[in-house]
Amino acid sequence: MPAAPRIARIALDRPLDRLFDYQIPDALSLAPGQRVRVPFGRGTTIGVVVTLTDQSEVPANRLRPVLEAPEAEPLLAPRLMQLLQFGARYYHHPLGEALLGALPPALRHGDPLPALTPETLWRQTPEGARALAAGEVRGRRQQAVLRALERGAPALDRATLAAATGLQLAPRELRALAERGWLEAITPDPEDPPTPNASNHALTPDQRAAVDALTPETTAPLLLEGVTGSGKTEVYLQMAERVLARGKQVLFLIPEIALTPQLSARIQQRFPGQVALLHSGLAEGERLRAWEAARRGQRRIVVGTRSALFTPVPDLGLIIVDEEHDSAFKQQDGFRYNARDLAIKRGQLEQAPVVLGSATPTLESLHAATTGRYGHARLTMRPDGTQPPTVETVDTRVHTPDEGLTAPLLDTMQQTLAAGHQCFLLLNRRGFARVLACDACGWVAECPDCDARLTIHAHNPRAVCHLCGHQETRPERCPECGEPLAQRGLGTQRLEQALARHFPNIPLIRLDRDSIRHKGALEAALDRIRQLDAAIVVGTQMLAKGHDFPQVGLVGVIDVDQGLFSVDLRATENTLQLIVQAAGRAGRGSGGGRVLLQTGHPDHPLIRGLDAADYPAMVAPLLEERAAAEMPPYGHLALVRVEAGDAETTRRHAERVATHLRNTAAEGLRVLGPAPAPRHRVNRRFREQILLQSTRRNPLHESLARARQAWQADDLPRGTRIAIDIDPVSLA
Ligand code: ADP
Ligand code: ZN
Ligand code: ZN
Repeated sequence: MPAAPRIARIALDRPLDRLFDYQIPDALSLAPGQRVRVPFGRGTTIGVVVTLTDQSEVPANRLRPVLEAPEAEPLLAPRLMQLLQFGARYYHHPLGEALLGALPPALRHGDPLPALTPETLWRQTPEGARALAAGEVRGRRQQAVLRALERGAPALDRATLAAATGLQLAPRELRALAERGWLEAITPDPEDPPTPNASNHALTPDQRAAVDALTPETTAPLLLEGVTGSGKTEVYLQMAERVLARGKQVLFLIPEIALTPQLSARIQQRFPGQVALLHSGLAEGERLRAWEAARRGQRRIVVGTRSALFTPVPDLGLIIVDEEHDSAFKQQDGFRYNARDLAIKRGQLEQAPVVLGSATPTLESLHAATTGRYGHARLTMRPDGTQPPTVETVDTRVHTPDEGLTAPLLDTMQQTLAAGHQCFLLLNRRGFARVLACDACGWVAECPDCDARLTIHAHNPRAVCHLCGHQETRPERCPECGEPLAQRGLGTQRLEQALARHFPNIPLIRLDRDSIRHKGALEAALDRIRQLDAAIVVGTQMLAKGHDFPQVGLVGVIDVDQGLFSVDLRATENTLQLIVQAAGRAGRGSGGGRVLLQTGHPDHPLIRGLDAADYPAMVAPLLEERAAAEMPPYGHLALVRVEAGDAETTRRHAERVATHLRNTAAEGLRVLGPAPAPRHRVNRRFREQILLQSTRRNPLHESLARARQAWQADDLPRGTRIAIDIDPVSLA
């Protein structure tokens, strides 16, 4: 038998395009994917073994030894290693950062794996039910816990209870309830996972067909396209249930956990004790335990945001990407991967089916589904028979808005509120008044460090830059001509104030990043909305996320034109998605619903074609435009961004990079630029960008790889950064 290789090629968490060779001590046996500690420089660092070999360019006497392997087995299984290696290559990113980034931070820092203890499940006792009914349970938190166990599953774990109540629950609070005899603790047998709770619904025929479209033999991704409220989540849950019943695990990716607490709570309630929740809001220890529970197969469903895609799960049977159109799946710095695209790759590598769901799929997915590369399941009806509302326009050239509000919108709001329904107003701009401007000479307050105007927020006496965070005292008078400055433009806070004047007796709730900054604020706002009848809710795109409110009678979109007529590649698509998603909030209850769009272009084909009930038909013209321009999905894009401390250096290096790209450009690749980025200056740094466009992927990747070697050999001045963005979601 040949001796095992004694040299390990190891990836380290460094922005370098190379691996490092270390000698394997006789006492150690290593495998790819395994975590190791190695000497590096004067200290030590954590790495991941990529390959084993007998050959190294480093002379044998200079090879340093691997110090230890914290675990005996690889943490990253072979197919996960393949996925990450593919990702690093595809996104032209150093492998070490990709591999180490796939580990929870605690493991990257060298912590040991945690021991897993089975999670206690909690059940309400008959005494608890009696005490609750008799009003003997005084504490509000205690009431919430008991109530969650009353309506919910027979037994829930602490995390599920926390999700269901929106409370941070300490173990001792639950133990205290058990001591009073109101709760009972159950320790599940790890060999015998808790059974899922039954669904409350019989599936509609469309839903049934969608669930049946997924078989263990399914190899192509399945696009689940369903109008808002059509029961996609129910389909995912039933698919997951089938996969779990076959002894497999499920990866369930969602764009953002904080914004959609209802969804993760719903999954946890359905599969109590089986869900590992993974997102960046967790403390390091919690995240590590959830990750380890998934890796060991103790938790059968991983619910998480984009990086959860890299969770090692031994028996992967299904990947679900919910709201697949959401740009949150694309990482916007460092390793700029798209978790949706890599999910498809992971599904191929692990032979696990992939389901992409949305009411407003990306043009890429729609195209793949219509050309047969993906399967396509459609839910065209809501289970309760309500239709997504039709969309009406208010011509702002005829009805001039006052502080964003036109007379027809105000009238419709009156009627809606009088009928006891809610009005949702969407304005995708937070803040109070957008800018400080001089009406006399046109001067506008700008950030000294960015190409951006300063914005004004209520409760903050200072003017703020949204790009770099710069703050300064608000000037009273124009520095150019001395006239007093006015606040111009409209943000959610200003709109809220205007509405308070129009509707003094109606409860008003604002949903934007400023209003939900405090922990629990979003849950509290969502709860309040659910409890109220007539009310006005003002918010940014956050309003349009998958919340399910039965009382919404009217959705008003304050300013459509800004997004619809932007230069950015995806701005139009994103605006249409936002309108349809927002419209989807209306008319879920019995009352039907209306959607009013305020626009100065009511005759524009895209506005006239707005039809929330048939998204593919509505975006067909956009697909035609993309085809004509050889833009995605008909062409492939990459963006190379060059950034430096002064405009001239940035330009010079951007030109060099562009020259390298042109020199290596294969047939069919177009190199456009360099051009100043739409935000040329941010935080005192300057940005130029080069756009690569090709109808085939290969030439683009080959040229990039070669050009990248060339520019890495160039002597870049300190502080110059070059970043590659493959399949960018925004050109800004
Ligand atoms: P989506 O994820 O498409 O927005 P949901 O799965 O949240 O839709 O379903 C919308 C609403 O319809 C929810 O209140 C859900 O409980 C309900 N629902 C889903 N499927 C059914 C069904 N087959 N019968 C009755 N109600 C259903
Ligand atoms: Zn002035
Ligand atoms: Zn700034």
